[in-house]
Amino acid sequence: MKKIGVLLLIVAVVLISLLVAGVFKKPLPVVPPVVAEPKGPVIAIVLDPGHGGRDPGAVVGDVLEKDVNLAIVKRMKALAEVEPGLNPILTRTADVTVDKLDRIHLAEEVKAALYLSVHTNAFDDPEVHGTETWVDDTREPDDPSWLLAESVQNALAAATEARDRGVRSQELYLHHTKLPAVSVEVGFLTCPEERAKLLDPAYQDQVACGILKGILDYLDAAGILGYPDATAATGGSN
Ligand SMILES: [Zn+2]
Repeated sequence: MKKIGVLLLIVAVVLISLLVAGVFKKPLPVVPPVVAEPKGPVIAIVLDPGHGGRDPGAVVGDVLEKDVNLAIVKRMKALAEVEPGLNPILTRTADVTVDKLDRIHLAEEVKAALYLSVHTNAFDDPEVHGTETWVDDTREPDDPSWLLAESVQNALAAATEARDRGVRSQELYLHHTKLPAVSVEVGFLTCPEERAKLLDPAYQDQVACGILKGILDYLDAAGILGYPDATAATGGSN
């Protein structure tokens, strides 16, 4: 009788062990892996840090415009990369010489939704400061470049609280493309207060955020890309 008791005990222990190990559990149904559906087409935007390499742009003391432009556009790229549906492409990511027409051609090659060049300004009068956005003067009044310029200028001025010098036009190399294209002058290196801000990474972030907000506003208004999530996240405020 003792042997039978020990045997029963062993059988019980083995059964409990198997139960714990999950041997008798029903196999889980096979679920195919969930693939995130893209919300829409991926839109390429070409961001151009003005100047570079042999062309420093404006030079104020040891501050070179080309370096400030690149720092701001690199921040824009990082912000744009996490936006669903946006593919930011830079015309340069280092201090190299790139021909203006090659920058434009890149935008056309990748079928970009827009081309946006970032610059910092310079003027004789150190009191002059603020932001302005330029459109080539050959663009017709119904050209989307105007809407892009207005959106970017408004959002940039709001984000930085810099003086809003508005949207302006003159003959630019941007007439070599029919893509929506603008050139943003984010501030004056010749104004000591504004120069100090433009060299501050926190202010560069504000500038980058402002311009990107303007780009998203434009893509939304032009019906190119809808951002229902972004609107909800910001409480629907513009
Ligand atoms: Zn410039």
